Amino acid sequence: MVTNIKVVEKVGKNSGKNVVIMAGVHGNEVCGVKAFDILIPEINIDNGKVIFIIANLKAVQQNKRYIEYNLNRCFLDNQPAEIMDTLEGKTAKEIIFFLQKADALLDLHSSKSSDSSKYLICERDCFDIIHSFSPEKVIMGIDDIQQGGSDGYMYRQGKPGICIECGLHESKDSIGIAKEAIQTFLIETGNINGISKKKITKKLFRSIYLYKNKNGPFRLERKFNDFEKMTEKTLIGYDGFEKIYLKRDDVVMFPDEPKEIGGECFMVIREETLLKSNQLNKVEKDLKNENANS
Ligand SMILES: [Zn+2]
Repeated sequence: MVTNIKVVEKVGKNSGKNVVIMAGVHGNEVCGVKAFDILIPEINIDNGKVIFIIANLKAVQQNKRYIEYNLNRCFLDNQPAEIMDTLEGKTAKEIIFFLQKADALLDLHSSKSSDSSKYLICERDCFDIIHSFSPEKVIMGIDDIQQGGSDGYMYRQGKPGICIECGLHESKDSIGIAKEAIQTFLIETGNINGISKKKITKKLFRSIYLYKNKNGPFRLERKFNDFEKMTEKTLIGYDGFEKIYLKRDDVVMFPDEPKEIGGECFMVIREETLLKSNQLNKVEKDLKNENANS
């Protein structure tokens, strides 16, 4: 099989963690690829091994989200038949080979909507890595309602997997955020010698459900922004002729208008807690205690 990934390995002088950093999982989200172009030639790894992967070369070359199937739904131990034979299904298997050996993952993404703020997708086991990442918002629990993401794949293996949404696809800011995230990640994993940056207060969200259309094409009632919080019961759109409502305090993510039945129309998340920087340590401790007790 012709490979659909590009792999660059950088090894430090001393032993350390084996980590994977990915860009281009969605081929039109170029900030990570551009950050790689700038960083990889100049970065020095002190400890362990860092594997940089451009994840969907064909989609990156064509500046498309994907060729046959959304690659970030393909990171599954047992891919269903409709995924297995696609380019992205095979590409995920190429990448899983590296993820299985990795101690941690950082996956770089960006967004098409100008209102979308930067944010992180990960679970609690990543808090000791992400505390000084610049995005304040963290969405947890996505893997429980929508499997196949790279971060969820790592989580199911009991290892930290972090997805960062760096902002708008083409903006210079998003490249800067991607670069900063790579450097911060590598300091926290110990692959680069350095001092942790100041911790940043995180706002935590929990995924509640993903709405897929059942009746016909989905149409949004109006434009909804990512992280928009409902102040009352709100009509979000029409599944065929059926009106679909959000509840008060529901927070919308990824609003879209799929035409095919079974498409991803929107996700509902809820604010969980405000996690102050000084509380992050406490959660880490609680987590360690939980692990020790289980
Ligand atoms: Zn993406």
